[in-house]
Amino acid sequence: QEDIFKKVIAHAKEYGYVVQSSEIYDGLSAVYDYTQNGAELKKNIREYWWKAMVQMHENIVGIDAAIFMHPTTWKASGHVDAFNDPLIDNKDSKKRYRADVLIEDHVAKIEAKIDKEVNKAAKRFGEAFDKEQFLSTNTRVVEYRKKASDILQRMGRSLEAEDLDDVKKLIEELGIVCPVSGSKNWTDVKQFNLMFGTKLGASAETATDLYLRPETAQGIFVNFLNVQKSGRLKIPFGIAQIGKAFRNEIVARQFIFRMREFEQMEMQFFIRPGSQKEWYEKWKETRMKWHLSLGMGEENYRFHDHEKLAHYADAAADIEFKFPFGFKELEGIHSRTDFDLRSHEEYSGKKLQYFDPELNESYVPYVVETSIGLDRMFLAVFSHALQEEELENGSTRTVLRIPAVLAPTKAAVLPLVKKDGLPEIAHKIIADLKWDFNVIYDEKDAVGRRYRRQDAAGTPFCITVDHQTLEDNTVTIRHRDSMEQLRVSIDSLRNHIAAEVDM
Ligand code: ATP
Repeated sequence: QEDIFKKVIAHAKEYGYVVQSSEIYDGLSAVYDYTQNGAELKKNIREYWWKAMVQMHENIVGIDAAIFMHPTTWKASGHVDAFNDPLIDNKDSKKRYRADVLIEDHVAKIEAKIDKEVNKAAKRFGEAFDKEQFLSTNTRVVEYRKKASDILQRMGRSLEAEDLDDVKKLIEELGIVCPVSGSKNWTDVKQFNLMFGTKLGASAETATDLYLRPETAQGIFVNFLNVQKSGRLKIPFGIAQIGKAFRNEIVARQFIFRMREFEQMEMQFFIRPGSQKEWYEKWKETRMKWHLSLGMGEENYRFHDHEKLAHYADAAADIEFKFPFGFKELEGIHSRTDFDLRSHEEYSGKKLQYFDPELNESYVPYVVETSIGLDRMFLAVFSHALQEEELENGSTRTVLRIPAVLAPTKAAVLPLVKKDGLPEIAHKIIADLKWDFNVIYDEKDAVGRRYRRQDAAGTPFCITVDHQTLEDNTVTIRHRDSMEQLRVSIDSLRNHIAAEVDM
């Protein structure tokens, strides 16, 4: 698994997708740059989300709020007091860890044991195997599951009560060792705030302390009435936004999975108090459908309902995706109650209420939000796409099966040879298509090698101009995934491509 992940990272660099930021200075930890193909893929994911969430919903509008916000925002939102990670240091290795992540990794090991038992039993019983029944009746598995759930519950309770001594005790009782030194010599657990601070203003005396926003949501909450009034929006309605967020993550590892500067795609849906359960379920379902629409395999997604809730939520679930390092959170769906709007009312002294003409009363709306990391979605798409395939002739090919609608380059146009007027025709095809699709020209190397290069770069179509083109105005169009080639007229190319890549 580690090997696969290393390949993903190397491939992302080699094919112009992602590199470490400031690489010539040996990089900056957990900060990344998207290069030419990565920028296109990111843009296409952004657009795919925006179309589905904003354009396709009559009652959802999009905004673009500033990264800097009035500092009181973060008092009201709870981020100054409660946006912390519990940290613990190992005294021997001097390495710092998130205490909750250490405990969760320990639980993941127990879960791996459960998986092993399930797989063994599935093999033994074959068709007759009933997984649910096995999970609830096999005594060893029942014991493992109870243990895992007890640990998580106790951790959740202790963190909520800020009982950090108990978190440390739990680590000691479980015998968790430092992954680097193997030692159990831990310090106390301390809270660490994740927000990046900066200053506004020139002189030290007058400067104001600011934060880089750790989530985009607050830009929506503070604009809730502006948008509702100017758009004459009626509840239920949503406000969506895509933008950068910043978190001073301690456990910054796993490539673009957890970054210090990243992009969120969030939508806050404003509803009548009391209707949150219904909307929460609805948005869970709608967001899962969006993921499945990309065809990356139903078996690679699952819901994880939270037992430990954030300070603002009355229900929360993650959509988890099977990354190369296992199932991890890709998106969160949170029922945020009226926590944020009420708190902003209190701190700003301004009313943030909605007059409901049907009920003939005013209230502070409840909110259900969907929140997905654009970079994490990028990693899901990219790591799932990268495949090595054995071909019939025994050779292997590396292919990046990015869904055509998201692929950075939709088609490469290749003249079979660099003479006889074929390059000119290829350039003309590109000129005809390039307003609608990102298409490129490639004439270097034998055509077979060019196909392989485009396969690895993720280009869904290769269009080849050959000598027959001179006679009948047809070309071949080759599909990346099936490697099938069709002979089609140049005039029909636009339709062929559009059939697969139009959103
Ligand atoms: P985690 O538990 O992984 O730290 P979280 O629960 O704090 O994430 P949220 O605050 O719910 O995450 O943020 C919503 C989404 O933003 C996440 O589902 C994830 O896709 C993305 N996200 C959060 N933190 C990061 C990060 N440091 N780097 C990249 N994406 C992130």
